[in-house]
Amino acid sequence: MAASSASTAVADSIWREIKSSRSGLIFPLPLHLLFGKNLERATIIVDEGGVQKHTGNPSGRFIFKVVGNSKKKTKYICFPEHFCTCYSFFHDVVSKGEQLCCKHQIAFKLAEAAGMCKEVSITDEKLAEILSEI
Ligand SMILES: [Zn+2]
Repeated sequence: MAASSASTAVADSIWREIKSSRSGLIFPLPLHLLFGKNLERATIIVDEGGVQKHTGNPSGRFIFKVVGNSKKKTKYICFPEHFCTCYSFFHDVVSKGEQLCCKHQIAFKLAEAAGMCKEVSITDEKLAEILSEI
């Protein structure tokens, strides 16, 4: 499946629908068609509380960390609209253009839409340290 702007528009519309209805994680069929196995993997991440919003204090700047569901439980820094530090983002999304986004970005969208994003407060120094590791 080649990623397209039409697919992205469909996905965005569905995310908005879930967010406005707070219908939980019962997915409309198009999400499965768009994201396949990554949708199920993203669901597991959300269920395990793996989507975290890290907000720097006192600036209020924030980033998202998403915990991978491999045994290592690697935390990926994720900018949901356009970047993730995982291998799949570079390989499947950017390089091959076969996916709209990686499972971490999907997990973020699910968590945000369902109100399941975990809030983590950190210092601005810690936030700078995290960003310097990208
Ligand atoms: Zn990712």
